[in-house]
Amino acid sequence: MSIKNYEFWFVVGSQFLYGPEVLDTIKVRAAEMADKMNASGNLPCKIVYKGTVKTNIEMTILSKEANYDDKCAGIITWCHTFSPSKMWINGFANLQKPYCHFATQYNREIPNEEIDMDFMNLNQAAHGDREHGFIAARLRMPRKIIAGYWQDEDVQKRIGSWMRAAVGVAVSKNLKVMRFGDNMREVAVTEGDKVEVQAKLGWQVNTWPVGTLVEVMNEVTDQEIDELMETYRTKYEFATEDLETVRYQAREEIAIKKMMDEEGCMAFSNTFQDLYGMKQLPGLATQHLMAQGYGYGGEGDWKVAAMTAILKTMSEGQSGGTTFMEDYTYHLEKGNEYSLGAHMLEVCPSVASKKPRIEIHPLGIGDREAPARLVFEGREGQAIVVSLVDMGGRLRLICQDIQCVKPIMDMPNLPVARVMWKALPDLITGLEAWITAGGAHHTVLSYDVTAEQMKDWARMMDIEFVHINKDTNIETLEQDLFLADLAWKLK
Ligand code: MN
Repeated sequence: MSIKNYEFWFVVGSQFLYGPEVLDTIKVRAAEMADKMNASGNLPCKIVYKGTVKTNIEMTILSKEANYDDKCAGIITWCHTFSPSKMWINGFANLQKPYCHFATQYNREIPNEEIDMDFMNLNQAAHGDREHGFIAARLRMPRKIIAGYWQDEDVQKRIGSWMRAAVGVAVSKNLKVMRFGDNMREVAVTEGDKVEVQAKLGWQVNTWPVGTLVEVMNEVTDQEIDELMETYRTKYEFATEDLETVRYQAREEIAIKKMMDEEGCMAFSNTFQDLYGMKQLPGLATQHLMAQGYGYGGEGDWKVAAMTAILKTMSEGQSGGTTFMEDYTYHLEKGNEYSLGAHMLEVCPSVASKKPRIEIHPLGIGDREAPARLVFEGREGQAIVVSLVDMGGRLRLICQDIQCVKPIMDMPNLPVARVMWKALPDLITGLEAWITAGGAHHTVLSYDVTAEQMKDWARMMDIEFVHINKDTNIETLEQDLFLADLAWKLK
């Protein structure tokens, strides 16, 4: 489901104490606020005014409806007047959707001449939102608190940003991952408890035989391949004459996509160690699938495949790009340190700085024919890299802020897509922090999704979150990880 089809329910708190006229005014204003915020263009999803809650039973029913409605990706509450919070307990205790407390006020300014006690009773968010905030704190609800004036662009954008994280929750809870082959032999960090992940994050991670994929590949028609070749021609520059090799990638892409679509899978993993019956490791095929929003993880890394799909949905409609990534090698010139990220083949062209080239080169590993792949440089800009690891008994999401640059050298003999960046706070400290936290070599790199969104997502999914940023120092990080270890054992 596209991000545009999700809704967020705007639920306003009040009570009967102030009489029907006040409640009528609240209703009109809340609807107006929803309309204006929708019209602002700052929200990726629609906000729908769902009513004013005045009793326990109203909130209980509303929570049940929100839980049941697949289009509802979360609720946003605000208290126009005072709304005694014991009446929210039953509803909140049963709420299974993301929750944002929007601490705002209908009027921007205090009207000097008009203000009297009627005005005070109608416009007492400062009072009502504190009562409302207490009960969520008391119930230990995972929540996002956004304070500010509802017509301000920056405030609307923060709500929009949280909406994207909440959609990431909805996607996660229904995500299916198709595995072709197991994880790469002997690799530890790509392993994980699939039962725990399904219980916690909702992912259904299952395997399909490579042999079945080969059968589906054999059924792909020339006409289907011709059509996809036309698409490749509009999007990419052909830097090869060997069209048969490119057509073979098209055949792989069509077959993988058919199998995923039939099963409702949004992500897949494969491994060069299990390509039985396939002539090429999918390169261009995987890259173009990622460009269409599918998640991918190399060497059987189903966790990063799923995370790539989730971040791609969270950033739908944005233009920076999101890709599967791997830390490969360093440039350790003193004071001018960089990481070079790439993969054997599979970097998503959504992060390309200009039109990618289709090239064919031999692959050093995997014992197959030279595969076609897209070669390009990643763009400059602020980004994050994200890694989900299984700590045994719990999941840890590690997010690092990075600054991508135009690669400082051409690297004309490097036959793969590449992205170069400075990790924060600096390469050396950032590297030590990443290793301290147990972050993987595989990541999702995104120019669109922010660390705040990943923190929100982790909180809503109830998993540990570690953020490596400009302020990180190793001593504090070690202390935080030690305390988190204790806290998560108690949870
Ligand atoms: Mn890899």
